[in-house]
Amino acid sequence: MSHIIVVGAGQAGASLVAKLRTEGFDGKITLIGEETAPPYQRPPLSKAYLMGEMELSRLYLRPESFYTDQNISLRLGAHVDSIDPANKTLTVNGETLAYDQLALTTGSTPRHLPAAIGGALGGVYVVRGLTDVDAMAPEFEAGRHVLIVGGGYIGLEAAAVAAKKGLKVTLVEMADRILQRVASPETSDYFRALHTSHGVKILEATGLKHLTGEGRVTAAELSDGTQLAVDFVIIGVGIAPATALAESAGLTLDNGIMTDAQGRTSDPNIWAAGDCASAPYRGTRIRLESVPNAIDQAEVVAQNMMGKDVNYIAKPWFWSDQYDVKLQIAGLNTGYDHIVTRKGDKEGAVSFWYYKGQTLLAVDAANDPRAYMIGKRLIEAGKSPKPEEISNPVTDLKSLMTA
Ligand code: FAD
Repeated sequence: MSHIIVVGAGQAGASLVAKLRTEGFDGKITLIGEETAPPYQRPPLSKAYLMGEMELSRLYLRPESFYTDQNISLRLGAHVDSIDPANKTLTVNGETLAYDQLALTTGSTPRHLPAAIGGALGGVYVVRGLTDVDAMAPEFEAGRHVLIVGGGYIGLEAAAVAAKKGLKVTLVEMADRILQRVASPETSDYFRALHTSHGVKILEATGLKHLTGEGRVTAAELSDGTQLAVDFVIIGVGIAPATALAESAGLTLDNGIMTDAQGRTSDPNIWAAGDCASAPYRGTRIRLESVPNAIDQAEVVAQNMMGKDVNYIAKPWFWSDQYDVKLQIAGLNTGYDHIVTRKGDKEGAVSFWYYKGQTLLAVDAANDPRAYMIGKRLIEAGKSPKPEEISNPVTDLKSLMTA
């Protein structure tokens, strides 16, 4: 009987094994994950779950019984140490397993603060897994001071939770503005104003020099010499694709595990999907760090493992929740040269449309699901309304779909 092994029991791994069964694969499936929890969704970790508004069981992508019912062998708390592609085997907890086809859905790992500048002190956290968030949650007590290092979406979401819970929040961002790597100055301005209105102190163009404390962090020195007394620290300075296993197996890397359009790596029996994989995209390559990408790419890989000939066409979209604002993003803004701002119909709704010349690339929509939906459909259809049509509040966005 054919045996498919999937390494990494996260969003992509769980989607891949489920899709194999719905597509009719009746061979043996083993899903291996180093975390002890069954596959779960990460987005609530920096939102509702951290806020204490979501139960643990609701984080799980599927009840554990699903894996038994589907005859999927789920091995948790099991780290895969090495792969031998020539013999089609891998080792996990000292045991050797043979596969016919293998998929790597190993996700990504957060960048940690080096120990030399205080990264190993108690009270210093990253936000990647359930254990990270369960460990930091008791620190969120009103009146305490949290320092957040990094003004990307995860840092900002943690800041929003902390502010809502009544903590004193300072967020430092080394770049000139928060969200600089991922969004327009207009989007950064919007979120800076939102956080400032909730009492968060945002310091841009300011880095962390080091953290100090006896065993546990008590103070921080910033790049401008400022000294802060802090109760705990959250590091949100980005992630790196988890490629160590693939690299040691000799697979080709290119900003992640390199795959072809079908998700196949440089070894024809090994596939990759999710945060760890980089795929061809419009003449270049991309590696996306999002739930929709993990699901779509994993489902394409499942189909191709069964011999269907399906290419993965990325349709990037993403979201972030901060306070009562839902930001929805469609498209990829890389290479934009100007932004068109549109006020939505409802109070507080606004969207920022990224253009390169006359070509629409992406939309950031804050509390404006309509702008997001229509923007997404326009981008996917390759349609670019004139920028002045977007900015004109009288334009019915829906009419742009048929134009
Ligand atoms: P993961 O879900 O990370 O799963 C990979 C798994 O592989 C992990 O469990 C890892 O431990 C395991 N693994 C790695 N190596 C091995 C090994 N050698 N042996 C065994 N197991 C191994 N995306 C959005 O679209 N919207 C959001 O709002 C959003 N918010 C987020 C908030 C947070 C706090 C985080 C951390 C992420 C967020 N994301 C969001 C990103 C999204 O969660 C990821 O893109 C998605 O989880 C990627 O899925 P994946 O399967 O590739 O990786």
